[in-house]
Amino acid sequence: MGSTNTRKGACGEVRRGLDAHLSGELGAGAARRTRAHIKECAPCAALAAERLRVRELLRRAVRGVQAPPHLAGAIRAMMRRG
Ligand SMILES: [Zn+2]
Repeated sequence: MGSTNTRKGACGEVRRGLDAHLSGELGAGAARRTRAHIKECAPCAALAAERLRVRELLRRAVRGVQAPPHLAGAIRAMMRRG
């Protein structure tokens, strides 16, 4: 009787700690438990993959915003000319 409850509890724990896990902020034991759970639990694995994809998109978006040096140079050149 306890096994489904344990599994459900594990899913909750994994999902609560998922962002910390993806950031590498979980302790070694919790990180190992999370990885082991994701290997066996398809819904949590899908959730983890989706979180990873969102994080990657965000990282790319932030990089795009922070990297317009050519634009700054062009604006400075225009101001010098004007
Ligand atoms: Zn799960």
